[in-house]
This record gives sequence, structure tokens and C-alpha cells, in this order.
Amino acid sequence: MVEIKTIQKRTVKADDVYLCDESKMPGGKAEEVFFPKNIEELSSLAAHFYSLKKPYTVFGRGTGITGASVPLEGAVISLEKMNKINDLAHCKQTGKPFLKAESGVTLTEIKTSLERFFYPVDPTEMSASIGGTVVTNASGACSFKYGATRKWIKSLKIVLPDGSVERIERGKYFADNEGIIHFSGKKIKVPQYKMPECKNAAGLYSCPGMDLIDLFIGSEGILGIVGEVEIWLEKKFPAVSFIAFFEDEQKAVDFVGILRNSDPKPEFIEYVDRLGLKMLKEKSAQDPASLNIPPLPENSEGGIFFDTAYNEGNIIEVLEKTNEIMSQATGFTGSFCAWENIEKERIKFFRHALPETVNSFISEIKREYPDIHKLGTDIAVPHENFNEMNLFSKNTIGRSGLKFVSFGHIGDSHIHFNIIPQNYDELEEGKKIYGILAAKAVELGGTVSAEHGIGKLKRKYLEIMYGSKGIEEMRKVKKCLDPEFLLNRGNMFEPGERS
Ligand SMILES: Cc1cc2nc3c(=O)[nH]c(=O)nc-3n(C[C@H](O)[C@H](O)[C@H](O)COP(=O)(O)OP(=O)(O)OC[C@H]3O[C@@H](n4cnc5c(N)ncnc54)[C@H](O)[C@@H]3O)c2cc1C
Repeated sequence: MVEIKTIQKRTVKADDVYLCDESKMPGGKAEEVFFPKNIEELSSLAAHFYSLKKPYTVFGRGTGITGASVPLEGAVISLEKMNKINDLAHCKQTGKPFLKAESGVTLTEIKTSLERFFYPVDPTEMSASIGGTVVTNASGACSFKYGATRKWIKSLKIVLPDGSVERIERGKYFADNEGIIHFSGKKIKVPQYKMPECKNAAGLYSCPGMDLIDLFIGSEGILGIVGEVEIWLEKKFPAVSFIAFFEDEQKAVDFVGILRNSDPKPEFIEYVDRLGLKMLKEKSAQDPASLNIPPLPENSEGGIFFDTAYNEGNIIEVLEKTNEIMSQATGFTGSFCAWENIEKERIKFFRHALPETVNSFISEIKREYPDIHKLGTDIAVPHENFNEMNLFSKNTIGRSGLKFVSFGHIGDSHIHFNIIPQNYDELEEGKKIYGILAAKAVELGGTVSAEHGIGKLKRKYLEIMYGSKGIEEMRKVKKCLDPEFLLNRGNMFEPGERS
């Protein structure tokens, strides 16, 4: 045990960075922030708060957009000083490469530490901590080919709410026939609901015979603090980048059906709708210095981005096969293709320019209406229901007259509808529509959050998904490990009855 007074800390100020995340959720409150620099200090802090029954919130890098790391009371533990990365190692049994890192290490730091290998989980925000991405089961464009964080975790070192430290290796602890996992002297009854069969980051994980490590991945930090992570890596390879344009949005969507099953499988498949292309064209015409995009083919009303990997010897074969795939599409208006880094960066910039353009519109509106924010859906559904969800979303928002744009991870049947309210009445209308879309996603077997999680801002949507019974089952798991609900109180659900 480390003496608490030797651990670095300071008082929290009124406008402190530790009171907010990227959601800009108001109302953050805490007394002090601690900066442990290793697992021993982290575990001592947890044990200390446990003995005092003091609530506290863990802060990774604060890039979340659901208010999950926003403290409502008590203390904050920031993990930014837990930032050591070990040397690359190889699994003794399989020879597969992996990396061990403390939980405060950022994705950028992991990326730059690797030469021949890469970590395939690619959330857009690379300043996120590896621990934060584990507990949100983060994912990105490439989860189409590689899956979300869950699949890439070899082991976790967890500090439990009572301060004890446990290493959980995948394949070590499983739920029995009754759904009970025996772990650290406790009997954890895993929730019994069925999870959606699509990319998902909402609620505690559950499946028959599940591995304990999956309960902690995606738990939004309510069951324990991730202190250290071992992640699997892949060998780096070159890729060709493509954008295909279409005369209407539905033709672009239809092309994804062909592309999804193509060989070689693309690294990712991303979508931009008619309004997205229009927005980019207008922004580029107004301000070419900040958005220098290539001229788009005439009559293009939808676009699909994808990257395809190649070996040094087979780039021609990959280009020919892609040409063949594109020839099966209808309503095709043109394409861009790039394999030199500088041109690939241009395509990537074009793809990333859309969310930034939406944010710049919101900033302009905020000058007149300071509390306005965008309403971005994070819905995914099983592939067979994507068309229905997409048309429903377009028609529902379209009928309201609200301005919106849709783009994102169509390979995973997961696109973000961004509603851009122009005043407070529209903000309220947008919130109502958000709830309608969430309910429709659940009706179609999907999720209310495919990658960002629930945090404090989306709790009511979690209840739409799992019902009050499901929430109660999650609450019991929480209570088993953290009877006083001290750790990350308020994430996913209200504490409710505690003891
Ligand atoms: C511009 C932008 C783009 C984004 N794009 C994506 C995207 O493509 N895909 C995606 O999945 N997300 C995306 N996000 C959301 C965000 O980056 C992720 O949720 C990320 O995983 C959060 O990591 P963080 O370290 O910032 O965690 P924080 O925001 O600090 O915390 C998030 C939650 O994790 C908990 N936590 C953090 N570290 C630990 C730990 N070690 N142990 C226990 N609990 C912990 C916190 O208490 C909180 O509940 C985006 C965000 C922004 C701002």
C-alpha cells in the first residue's frame, strides 16, 4: 500500500478540464483530482475511497462524447501519468505479436511506438487513452474488417472497487450454466438479455458461457479501473484508397452490398450522403484554403470510400479486381483512386472533413444560441435491416424540416445522422426525433449506441434497449463488485437502491 498523501493531487477549479468531456455536458463537480503514476498508487486510491465510502470518477483523456468521465461528486482519478509502453512481445503458443501498455497511454503513442505492426482498432479520435477505448469498446472505420476493441484484448489488469488487483487473461474465467462467474471471492451473475447482432457499445456484455474479460470490456468503467492492457497487433501492409460516386444515395447504398462480400475484403467502407457532398462542395468554394478537395464528378449525390490492402507484388491484380467490382454497380458517376501517400492523405482529409464541417456550422449557430449542440445518432442495425432504418431516419428527419447530414461506417450498417438545429425549438424537436430513431433501431434488432457508449447522456435510450429488467440485472452486477456505487457513479444507469 502506498501512503495517499504521497500521491500527486490538486484541487479542482470551477472551469477545470476534469469536469467535462467532449460532449460539453454541463454540471461537472468534484473536489480534487489525483494523478497516480502506477498500479500500486491506483489500487491504494481505490482502497482509500472504498474505506471512506467516497465516490470518484475515472478520467482517461476526456475525449468521450456521452458525459461518462464527467464527475458529479467526490474525486477524480486521472490516468494520464500511467503512460508507459512495454516492448513488443510475441505469444509463446501462437507467435502472434502483442503490446503491453498502461491504461493512460494514448492511441497516437501506441501508433508511433510501432514500426512493422499496427493496432487495428481505429476510433477517429487518436488522443483517446487505451484504457478509455477498452471500457467503451471503441471502434472505427476499420472495425468493418477487424472488429471493435473487444476482439483485440489479450488481457487486462484491473483494480477492483475495493482496491484489490486482478489480472484477467482471455480464456480464464467463464460463466457456468446458471450464468454465474466465480471471481475474486465473488459470484457474479451475468445479465440474461440478448444482445443485438451488430456492432454495439451499449450496456454490459452478455452471452451464454461468456468470458469474464468481456464483462469489463465496454463496461464504461463501472466495474473496475483498467490499469494495464495487453493488445494484439497485426503486421502493417500498404493499401489503395478509393472513392466511388453515384447519381443517387440509394445506388451508393446498393453498391455496399456488392463491396461487403468482395474479395479482397476492403479495410473499411464509409458513406457520405447528398447533403454531405453538397456541404463539402460549398465549404470548399467559400474557403479553399481550409478545405482543398478535388473537383467532384458531375451529378454525384452519394459517395462510398474504401481502402483495399495489397502485397508489394499484387497491386495491379487488386486494381483490376476493384474495377470489376465497380463495373457491377449501377448509377456510377466516377471515382478517385490513390496509392501514393500524399494522394491517400488527400482522400483521408476529404473523408474526415465532413464531421469537422458540421462542427464549424454548429459553432456559427452557437454564436447566437450558445446552448445549441448537434444531435448525432450512433445507431447500428443488422445488415438485413439497414435499408429500412436508413429510409426511416431520412424520412423522419426530412419531414420535420430540420437540417441534417448522414455519413459514416456503412460497412457495419452504422451511419451517423447529424441533426443541425438552427435554434432552441429545433433542438427540442431534434431530441424528440432522436428518441423515435432509437426506438426504431431497437425494433429492428439494433443498438442505440454502436461505438460511443451510454455514459450519462444516453441512459434513457439504454432502457429502451434492455427494459427495466435488463437495467436491474446490470445494476446487480455493479452492486456485487461495488456495493456503494462509488466508482463512475451515474454511468449507464442511476444508482437506485444501493444496499
Ligand atoms: C472527434 C471525436 C471522434 C470520435 N470518434 C470515435 C470513433 O470513431 N469511435 C469511437 O468508438 N469513439 C469515438 N469517439 C469517442 C471517444 O474518443 C471514445 O469513447 C474513447 O474511447 C474515450 O477514451 P478516453 O480516454 O478519452 O476516455 P474518457 O472520455 O476519459 O472516458 C470515457 C469513459 O471511460 C472511463 N475510463 C477511462 N479510462 C478508464 C480506465 N482506465 N478504467 C476504467 N474506466 C476508464 C471513464 O470513466 C468514462 O466512463 C470520438 C470522440 C471525438 C471527440
